[in-house]
Amino acid sequence: MKKKNILLPLLIGFFIIGCGYINQKPYGLIQKAGTPEHTPTWNYGGWIVARGSVHNHTTYSDGNLSPEELIQNARNQGIAVLAITDHREGSICIGKHQLICGNMGGVDSKKVGYEKYWEHITRLAKETTDPVILPGFEVAPHMWNEGYFPYLSIKASHWHFTTYGIDDIKVYENMPARAMMLMKPEQDPTAQPFVEFVDYITANGGMVFQAHPESFEYERYFDLVYLLAAAPVHLTDKLDNLTGVAILPEGINVVGKPGGEWDKALASYMVGIRKTPLWAWGEADFHLAPEGKLYNAATLFYLKSLDRAEVYNAMRTGRMVAISGEAFQESYVSEFSVSDAGPAQEKIMLGQTAVLSGPPVVRFSLSKEVPLSEARLIRNGKVVYSGKGCNFEFKDSEAFAKKSPVYYRVELIGEGPQEYGNTTRLITNPIFINWK
Ligand SMILES: [Zn+2]
Ligand SMILES: [Zn+2]
Repeated sequence: MKKKNILLPLLIGFFIIGCGYINQKPYGLIQKAGTPEHTPTWNYGGWIVARGSVHNHTTYSDGNLSPEELIQNARNQGIAVLAITDHREGSICIGKHQLICGNMGGVDSKKVGYEKYWEHITRLAKETTDPVILPGFEVAPHMWNEGYFPYLSIKASHWHFTTYGIDDIKVYENMPARAMMLMKPEQDPTAQPFVEFVDYITANGGMVFQAHPESFEYERYFDLVYLLAAAPVHLTDKLDNLTGVAILPEGINVVGKPGGEWDKALASYMVGIRKTPLWAWGEADFHLAPEGKLYNAATLFYLKSLDRAEVYNAMRTGRMVAISGEAFQESYVSEFSVSDAGPAQEKIMLGQTAVLSGPPVVRFSLSKEVPLSEARLIRNGKVVYSGKGCNFEFKDSEAFAKKSPVYYRVELIGEGPQEYGNTTRLITNPIFINWK
């Protein structure tokens, strides 16, 4: 109990960590007259290509814009689809008597409460068509206390997921995501609690995307509390019902590299372990104006109509392209197709399966020239073509000779910055091939 007395005052702020959890002062509305910073939508080949910003915070958790201000900011920055996903976690306690607690600054606190947040953002989603709003949450489903010496060691505080496509707040209130840790130290629970969380949300009709899968932070407070905040890269291909993963900006070195965790998950889909593919997108994880950008990394959605139901369709079927870096902001993929003879039936085949009887011809083009250091075509986790141009065609006789199932995806590496979390990239979702 003595320990508690020492820790209690120190613990008041102990969960003030990385991807936020600091309650920010409201910043004030950023209003700009005239044209937005970037083009929000293009009409191309029967598609509406919509610039989307997903995984964003407001003053309901640790952002400094109110939901209304965030929406105005999205209009200013040329964002046609805006997801609002404030942190769930309010007070997180160690032990059932709630003697040691940390305020996580999320919506599940006495001050805010799920209902108030949900009522507000779902109302805005109904009232607003510019941008299309996706209401959701960011959830840390399971943390554990790994021991007290030499300091209190809290694990998985950065194992975050964003959730979408659920209307009923009761589903969120009942989700298997705990808000307490045991007094008695626990071992690493492996993937199990995260599997349960993902399976519950998807069984209730929702979608779950892994957030910042490679963010890596160790934080220590007063030499007494230690947060192991490294993100769960290793979980990516173990969550069979996970809808997608934020490959940009913080998922490109391990999860998104050719042959990385994303490709492993796509391989499990090819052999029938996963029922659905794992999709990639780019997330903003926007917190603070004016320095933050809603397109820190963005997602281009390929839509038949510009509304929420159709955006959810695109999220479920992989009609998405992840982009980051200024160089790609005014571009979109104008062809990504695979056929065995002549031109493909459709120019945009993101997420689709083509059934072929001859050698596949992959065609790719970008709507405008962007200086590249490399364009890569990746087949089953391996780079099979490397070039410098934004347009290319590749005939894959090797894949046809083997006739085993394959998928193709494209990665463009721009000439802009390549620092971690600020990389100049474009990444498509895959096209799958079966043989007649
Ligand atoms: Zn986070
Ligand atoms: Zn976040």
